[in-house]
Amino acid sequence: MNIYDALRRKSIKEGILRSLRNLSENVRRNVENHPYLIDFAEDVKSAKLKVAENYDFWIDKAKDVLESRGVNVYYAESAEEARKIAGKVVGEGKLVVKAKSMVSEEIHLREWLEKIGNEVWETDLGELIVQVAGDKPMHMVIPALHYSEQEVGEILKRIGVEGESAEVLAREVRKFMREKFLKADVGVSGCNAFSAETGRIFLIENEGNIRLSTSLPKTYLALVSIEKILPTDELCLKSICVQSAFFGTFPPAYINVNEKVQQQDMHVILLDNGRKNTQFREQLACVRCGRCQLECPVFQLAGNVWGGEVYGGPMGMIWSAITDAITDYCFLSTLCGKCREVCPMKIDMPRMIREIRKLALKLD
Ligand code: SF4
Repeated sequence: MNIYDALRRKSIKEGILRSLRNLSENVRRNVENHPYLIDFAEDVKSAKLKVAENYDFWIDKAKDVLESRGVNVYYAESAEEARKIAGKVVGEGKLVVKAKSMVSEEIHLREWLEKIGNEVWETDLGELIVQVAGDKPMHMVIPALHYSEQEVGEILKRIGVEGESAEVLAREVRKFMREKFLKADVGVSGCNAFSAETGRIFLIENEGNIRLSTSLPKTYLALVSIEKILPTDELCLKSICVQSAFFGTFPPAYINVNEKVQQQDMHVILLDNGRKNTQFREQLACVRCGRCQLECPVFQLAGNVWGGEVYGGPMGMIWSAITDAITDYCFLSTLCGKCREVCPMKIDMPRMIREIRKLALKLD
């Protein structure tokens, strides 16, 4: 879909505005009822930016703590390196169950694992819909918000899942997935926050699919982009609280704290992909709550098609510049400042979008 198609597609606008309506009041209430979240956000921002000043030190620390717990650790400088490592860990002819992860989208992991001969299933309902539709996630947290119930029904028929209502469809997907979970050779996840203190991987979710994906298969592979590294477990907990509260669901239904258990073969890829040497360092404080996307007037019209190949919206404009490429879409930003206003980390995205424009025009 190109941006003109996106602008014409009413369901994108309707889906985003519906999500915004449903979630905005929750965010307001979360902050009102739990004012300490503002302090949490400040603590996490300053810790993330401090870690970003010396990633090499924190990567070594992360490696040491993981290795001391029997985890296989790898460092990948680029998306290509990460794909190669993941390919070696997974192998061929495997059944892979995957938790929703924007970093895996960033490195096109599912497509790669399929290409080398594996069967890969997204286990988050929204992400599964997007996978089967051959689409890309419309929003970081709500990937299938642009599909109507009827469209979802049609899409899921392609994998033999049928139902008269959303409830029945969800139940049928659960059955379909249970079978995959039980037979899976490898589970793959991203990471919402990583503790350099204990090597623990913190993940939040609402469906319970992440805990099944990461605990049932014999092999578990976690992708940890380096901006997720925080010095302590306490900061990780603060980070996921901020992320969920500013998305609109607090507390999250499930908090997973993953570490190597018993006989599980656990692997962690620490991914750089442009983060270490970026000029857009402030963006590394982002907790990926997706708030700035829903609130952005341009995103409300064009959705995730406006931005980079993977990341869309105001945050996506900058994340794409860090991890992939600058696109001319930066000139479509209104620079209204709403993204900065609603961001829990108070990241100055308009300032960085201006910088991106200069780079696009090759100005100093
Ligand atoms: S930039 Fe801010 S509002 Fe946007 S996803 Fe990141 S933390 Fe959330």
